[in-house]
Amino acid sequence: MSRFQRVAILGATGSIGESTLDVIARHPDQLAVYALSAHSRIERLAEQAAACRAAVVVVPDEAARARFQAVWPAGRTAPEIRVGAQALADTAADAGCDTVMAAIVGAAGLPAALAAAQSGKRVLLANKEALVAAGGLFMQAVRDHGAELLPIDSEHNAIFQCLPQGTRAGAPTEPAKGVRRLLLTASGGPFRRLDPQDLHDVTPDQACAHPNWSMGRKISVDSASMLNKGLEVIEAHWLFAMPADRIEVLIHPQSVVHSMVEYDDGSVLAQLGQPDMRTPIAYGLGFPDRLASGVGPLDLARCGRLDFETPDLERFPCLGLAFAALRSGQGACIALNAANEVAVEAFLSGRLRYTWIPKVITAALEWQQRQSSVTLNSLADVLALDAETRAFAGNLGLA
Ligand code: NAD
Ligand code: MG
Repeated sequence: MSRFQRVAILGATGSIGESTLDVIARHPDQLAVYALSAHSRIERLAEQAAACRAAVVVVPDEAARARFQAVWPAGRTAPEIRVGAQALADTAADAGCDTVMAAIVGAAGLPAALAAAQSGKRVLLANKEALVAAGGLFMQAVRDHGAELLPIDSEHNAIFQCLPQGTRAGAPTEPAKGVRRLLLTASGGPFRRLDPQDLHDVTPDQACAHPNWSMGRKISVDSASMLNKGLEVIEAHWLFAMPADRIEVLIHPQSVVHSMVEYDDGSVLAQLGQPDMRTPIAYGLGFPDRLASGVGPLDLARCGRLDFETPDLERFPCLGLAFAALRSGQGACIALNAANEVAVEAFLSGRLRYTWIPKVITAALEWQQRQSSVTLNSLADVLALDAETRAFAGNLGLA
């Protein structure tokens, strides 16, 4: 391991945040926590901060600050408590940390992830929505400020590991030499075999019951609809400078092959492992070295077989919508992501049928196409279109 790293974990109380803390705790000689942030589970944040001795915590508002203080153990020195979205971005850029784990869910995580890139940090990017909404801006910031970008999404981490040596750091401007295609694998989620007629009545708990991965509720719904894979196609486009027609999605129900890179000579390299996010997280933290992650051996004999199939775009319309948005441009990608966030939130809170998620996205994409074209050169431009799309989608009468 080259250097000791002090890590800020944005979204510490989430699924990725918890796994990141688990890996860091295994390597006290190489890794320490500098800052943690949370949006809602403030009591859990206090437990985490006490356990890892964070110097800083970031909470959304004054009420959350009071909750944090109320549960902080008496007699122990409390961390510095920072409040609000600006504090989140400031902490990502803070000289106190070398590495930022961007694990907030949704476009809400974009400003802080961008701030980390703009301050030249090692950025461990789990927050795929940031790249979907502002891929061009984000990758340019990585280049301009010499940040080190390591993909944490398991598929992109797999691809990163399978790309040729020497083309892996930072933000490429063209596809790696000799690479023909990227093959993104997808589990197909809990509804891969469900009768399409039954989709209408599925509940949030059914949608969140992912067969292989344990994740936050928003990404679990996205996995069921395969919009998650669509977001990942857009993410792969930006991370690896790869055109849409050289990115293929394959359903692989076992989630053992995390993704593949196909070369011009016909070679296909794959990264395999148990479906446990601690593997890509440890890879990002340790890069270029390997760190123990707590993930055990892969028992392929027990797996027995690995299956692959082409996704059915009628069953998974969201995947087709994401490809269409990528081909259409950045405005469409912002609209796709924002409309999906509104629709998934409405579904999770019982205000929208599952089958209406693609309908809300389609309406938002059509709405976005009718808008006079806007420039999307800055974070403010991106956030403005994101907010307008949310207003549009919210007005669709989601009840
Ligand atoms: P999660 O819902 O479990 O956790 C989200 C975290 O973000 C929590 O700490 C929450 O407090 C915080 N947060 C939520 N809304 C916020 C807001 N408006 N402002 C600031 N903080 C906010 O989500 P997760 O499953 O850990 O996913 C996090 C990100 O990582 C997502 O972008 C997801 O797509 C990506 N990702 C997750 C997995 C996984 O296995 N969980 C895999 C690949 C990629
Ligand atoms: Mg993924």
